[in-house]
Amino acid sequence: MRERYGNVIGGHEDFEGDEVALRSPADGSLVTTVVHADPAKTKEAIDAAEDAFKKWSKTSLPERRELLLKLADRMQSRAEEYSMLESLETGKTIRQSTIMDIPITIEHIRYFGTTKDIPSTREIEHPEYPGTRGIIQYAPVGVVGAIAPWNLPLVLAVWKVAPALLTGNTVILKPSHYTPLTALELAKDAKEVGFPGGVLNTVTGGGAAVGQTLVSSPKVNMISFTGSTATGEGLMSSSAGVKKFTMELGGKSPNIVFEDADLEKAVKGVLFGIYLNSGQVCESGSRLIVQSSIKERFLAKLAGLIERMRAGNPLQMETDVSAITTEEQRKKIETMVESGIKQGARLYYQKQISQLVPKGGFYYSPSLLTEVPRDAQLAREEVFGPVLVALEFESEDEATEIANDTEYGLAAGVWSKSLERAKRVAGKIDAGTIWVNAYHLASAAAPRGGFKKSGIGRELGLEGIAEFTQTRHIFVNEGGDIDEVAYGLLLPE
Ligand code: NAD
Repeated sequence: MRERYGNVIGGHEDFEGDEVALRSPADGSLVTTVVHADPAKTKEAIDAAEDAFKKWSKTSLPERRELLLKLADRMQSRAEEYSMLESLETGKTIRQSTIMDIPITIEHIRYFGTTKDIPSTREIEHPEYPGTRGIIQYAPVGVVGAIAPWNLPLVLAVWKVAPALLTGNTVILKPSHYTPLTALELAKDAKEVGFPGGVLNTVTGGGAAVGQTLVSSPKVNMISFTGSTATGEGLMSSSAGVKKFTMELGGKSPNIVFEDADLEKAVKGVLFGIYLNSGQVCESGSRLIVQSSIKERFLAKLAGLIERMRAGNPLQMETDVSAITTEEQRKKIETMVESGIKQGARLYYQKQISQLVPKGGFYYSPSLLTEVPRDAQLAREEVFGPVLVALEFESEDEATEIANDTEYGLAAGVWSKSLERAKRVAGKIDAGTIWVNAYHLASAAAPRGGFKKSGIGRELGLEGIAEFTQTRHIFVNEGGDIDEVAYGLLLPE
């Protein structure tokens, strides 16, 4: 492990600024120190990105694709190191980093390096004006500020960085100051494989110092943000200059289980949906909505599986329970559960882990609550922890009504052997991603994002790539007679 990490600005590692200790959420041990940028340093990165844009925006698509593929290869060769860093900074299990987070990140960079699903120049007819044609082109937006959260630091950063670079933008990536290491490595590896200096800069530090400087800078043309709804709302109102925003925000996603579901598979899917990463996933299926006729059976099975999850040191391959990444977050989870219980919720099952996990870390026991009043904060607001709230329904309509009874709309799951029914229900849920008989699977080809307070815009897929472009329409008169419909308005014959 390196003793010190600097910011990556203009292709160089920059050590100017306050050095801050980074401690492991798993056991409180010192991981390394990281230099935090201040607003002036952030402005240097913005200038570097603005300068690099002049040349980078003129490079060809094949050149940019090739560099992305080289970056994926380079990261593949360092996959173990990336996995270790990701687990050290977040406290997530090494099994999750090794099997999921890092391989998916690399696979998704390869998708961006090869996909044909990219907006490309096309021609149109103008039916109103015979003899004319339109050429539609897609230009980069410019300098992109990519602001990422701490729960899946690398993969969520790459969902912004890779399509932005692919389409000819330059980027200042601002990871969460809790989890900057893999984002810093990403920028260094980009330079290593040949991305010109300034094309990808990573600047770490607090939201107010670094993030707000990006949002307030008129030189930043777009902010691609992933984080909480409250922060996202604040950013949009504090922005300066005219800029584009995409917002990937919070969720309170329903996981609906019908009585005709394959219960063995559904119970695993529900467990995976909420307890992966100790519930610190935006799309976590945090509301189980189960049909009354199977409720007791299903909850008993679920409690049995929760009990089987292994708590221990997250850096050991056999551990299933991730740490909570920040102490503040751990307290928030505890407070929300306590207040839910005060409002009448029943703690149906809670796995006891305190004797099994390393001392000095932040953990919360995987918990399952029933009888939660539907208007309680616990039933309505994002906990962002390993806390599942079980609600029940009688009819299909009621299931959909409960699922949509939220200010959020990020994701949902539907479990039924009747695909016809599951697809019908999925089509009525106000959310950006709905899994049928699955949960959490992210394909780079599939656009993701939120309805309602869960966000604006999409990431991944054709729609996600298009977010990083702006459209140019060239109106060509190839010999059409427009005298009558246009010039004749001022100069009648
Ligand atoms: P957060 O909103 O606290 O922070 C997100 C990022 O914004 C961090 O880098 C932070 O430093 C920065 N930031 C904070 N204040 C800022 C400001 N004033 N100006 C500019 N930047 C600022 O979120 P978090 O706690 O890091 O992450 C958890 C949240 O993210 C949860 O609500 C979760 O649902 C959400 N999330 C959403 C998605 C999605 O795809 N929809 C994915 C992951 C996480």
